[in-house]
Amino acid sequence: MMYQSTRDHRLQASSTCAVLNGIAPDGGLYILDDLNDLNFDWLSVLEQEPMDMSASILAALLPEFPDMNALVHKGYEGKFSAPDLTPVVSVADRYVLELFHGPTSAFKDVALSLLPRLMTAARDVEGSDDEIVILTATSGDTGKAALEGFRDVPGTRIIVFYPEGGVSPIQQAQMTTQPGKNVCVCAVRGNFDDAQTGVKEIFAACSQRDLGHIRLSSANSINIGRLAPQIAYYFKSYADLVHSGRIKPGQPVHFVVPTGNFGDILAGYFAKLLGLPVGRLICASNANNVLTDFLTTGVYDKRRPFHKTTSPSMDILVSSNLERLLYLLSGCDNEYVASLMKQLNRDGHYQVSDAILSKLKAEFGCGCCNDAEAAAVIGRVWKESGYLLDPHTAVAWAVADQFMARRTDDAPVVVLSTASPYKFPAAVLSALGKTPCEDAFALMEQLHQHTGVPVPENLASLADLPVRHRDVIDREKMLDYVLEKVGEAQW
Ligand SMILES: *Cc1c(COP(=O)(O)O)cnc(C)c1O
Repeated sequence: MMYQSTRDHRLQASSTCAVLNGIAPDGGLYILDDLNDLNFDWLSVLEQEPMDMSASILAALLPEFPDMNALVHKGYEGKFSAPDLTPVVSVADRYVLELFHGPTSAFKDVALSLLPRLMTAARDVEGSDDEIVILTATSGDTGKAALEGFRDVPGTRIIVFYPEGGVSPIQQAQMTTQPGKNVCVCAVRGNFDDAQTGVKEIFAACSQRDLGHIRLSSANSINIGRLAPQIAYYFKSYADLVHSGRIKPGQPVHFVVPTGNFGDILAGYFAKLLGLPVGRLICASNANNVLTDFLTTGVYDKRRPFHKTTSPSMDILVSSNLERLLYLLSGCDNEYVASLMKQLNRDGHYQVSDAILSKLKAEFGCGCCNDAEAAAVIGRVWKESGYLLDPHTAVAWAVADQFMARRTDDAPVVVLSTASPYKFPAAVLSALGKTPCEDAFALMEQLHQHTGVPVPENLASLADLPVRHRDVIDREKMLDYVLEKVGEAQW
């Protein structure tokens, strides 16, 4: 079974090749046509330990990789502060799936702890001795998680672009203090979509160029090697609910997912295609609610104001991974997907057919919430349940409230928690009714004093690290910047 581009079925690739390339040569995303074909034994996977579970899922989706079990164990061991990687906590009338116990306190660690292993293994399988250069645009969390994942991995370098002023001070400090001989961090004047579009254009421009022994690749969730590891925590949380006696195997569980680029929630859909009894997948957005509108009307329209919110990792107007969903729901019609993406690029909007809209509605719910509502949720959940939510998780919690008020069943509802509240201490303190102090690092201590919730070790030590990266460039200069950097023998 081969991966192929969502836009052109002639562009096929093995799983190793798809992981190495990141994006297909025509700008499409690599995808498998039918996950049902894998005949995945989802029931027996529920009995496995979290890392073995992850390895089973990855081995099914990425069959050309040798010894997935070893790759997964090496990728995760010693890096997560929770022994079961992604714990499920019961809070009030629902469950919180905590995805933030990795080395950078964001859910992206789940995938980015593995991606460098997958890439270097893929390179060995492909018999290549190219240097892998990772290009990544980040809305805040991917950048740091990718830097940490690739740091000093032999045969790789990584360049991270973030929107200047578009990430939280803690996120910025996490990136600009990043150590490692093979890492480069640069701010772009613009928003996340500018940075992401810039990176896509660099890939397109470089596909026509000879870069010698350099292979550009991506750590964004457009890479299937980034998406696939995220499927595991849906299984893991389902298994936890089975083992605690809350459900019997086969009963549905609803998941509410704070969404930006549509990677996290798409992993949930893949889990469902692999057999997991996923009930509804609820797509939660902040004020940048392009997906709420899309899932309600079938019209995707990015021509709207861009809002900077307290949940910056969800400040996204072009959700790349939606393309994969459109491909699957259109019955793998790549010409159709290509035409929609062309329209989006040219006109800034498209509309899907009624048939696709009704399929979307059958699988996905949606909702959005603004900063004030998210803040109210943080305050209320802290007061009533003594549980501290970060602003992204709070958006999902608020949308879960909307969903639970309407629904007619009593299946468990799992809210995915994507970041530690200590990554966004100012917003969280304000939500708790405190006046945040000025200094970004003192803020963490202030939040700790007020709540007693422990500060994750990686964030607590941040204030003492020297700033190593100060570059700021215009969006139009991104290609030149990359070409210059890859030409340098040493950074
Ligand atoms: C990246 C991110 C999201 C959004 O995930 P997508 O896969 O882009 O939809 C939500 N919350 C946090 C904290 C994130 O870092």
